[in-house]
Amino acid sequence: MGVNRRTLIQASLGAAAAMGTSKVGGIPAAVAQEAAPAGRAYKRIAVEEAFLTTELLMAQRAYLAQNPQDEPGFTRFWGTMMDSIGIWGMLQEFMGIGGMGLSRALDLGSGRIAAMDEAGIDVQVLSVTSPGVQIYDAKQGSDLAQSTNEKLAKAVRANPERLAGLATIAPQDPTGAAQELRRAVTQLGMKGALINSHTKGEFLDEPKFWEIFDAAQELDVPVYIHPRVPSADMVKPFQKYFGLEAATFGFPIDASLHALRLILSGVFDDYPRLKIVLGHMGEGLPFWLPRIDKKIELFQGIKAPERKLLKKPSQYFHDNFFITTSGMNYEAPLKLAHEVMGPDKILFAVDYPFEENEEPIQVMDAIAFSDEDKKKIYQTNAERVFKL
Ligand code: CA
Repeated sequence: MGVNRRTLIQASLGAAAAMGTSKVGGIPAAVAQEAAPAGRAYKRIAVEEAFLTTELLMAQRAYLAQNPQDEPGFTRFWGTMMDSIGIWGMLQEFMGIGGMGLSRALDLGSGRIAAMDEAGIDVQVLSVTSPGVQIYDAKQGSDLAQSTNEKLAKAVRANPERLAGLATIAPQDPTGAAQELRRAVTQLGMKGALINSHTKGEFLDEPKFWEIFDAAQELDVPVYIHPRVPSADMVKPFQKYFGLEAATFGFPIDASLHALRLILSGVFDDYPRLKIVLGHMGEGLPFWLPRIDKKIELFQGIKAPERKLLKKPSQYFHDNFFITTSGMNYEAPLKLAHEVMGPDKILFAVDYPFEENEEPIQVMDAIAFSDEDKKKIYQTNAERVFKL
């Protein structure tokens, strides 16, 4: 990124903050209020809602400009986005009228709450958007995690009825990440942690990371595994067609692979009470479970695994995982997830500000589930899993 554009972003950030601008959803307030009457039978809690800080945005730009080889997938994806929207597009982003949602991600206060009010979202569980702090060296990642958690805790304290937070941690330093998770939960009131999938190409099935799980199980808080652009070893075949490496398909492939590696590592035999949350309707895994069981049995019969699992892969998915609806506002996958996972394992999420609040509510309100199941998905599962 050139100096001029960085200067522009900084200037725009200041302007956007001063103006307090924030795009809210497309439905007029009067309509939204009708859709969310005071007598609604349940709260709507959205659990994968993103935020960003100016500190993180600036650090990310600086780091990737200096170390483009570290994150070739993300650097190329993000660079293409920036180049294509140009300076005017970037200005629009920070004025709150751009399509990427950046100004809305930076808003941890009144603009965000207004958008929630307009759509009828009662609570957002917030987490840092990908790739979070996982691109940096261990020291910078850990420092940024701490300062980000402080900022998030402050925002939650200002609106404790409306916002809750998931801690940012830097797995590059597993011991420091476990310590920060403990601090964030016990001192800052965080409800778990969110990890943006791979850390410099490594997944959490590597035992060196398991002290993070040790802390999570002891604290009885979930770890949300959120996707990001696949690592250098994985991203190339996605890059032929722009966008395939991101939410189109690279994200769910990266995150579902991460989940399967966790399952096959045996980590859930060591940490049987560990809770993992996956977004995007379980990153497709509810669709695949029976075939995964069948083929793992076949292949582990041919070559015994390093570690024999106590259960079938699908059983760990049922026992240790929760899935959320983020970004998947479609009836067919929601019905499949409901049938496969049951109503106690699905949590409502929007993926704000990258998705609008209104559409997932319309889909969930209209689907032919019982009111009891809708209350679980919208409210009580989230209250139980995140101890809200
Ligand atoms: Ca997301």
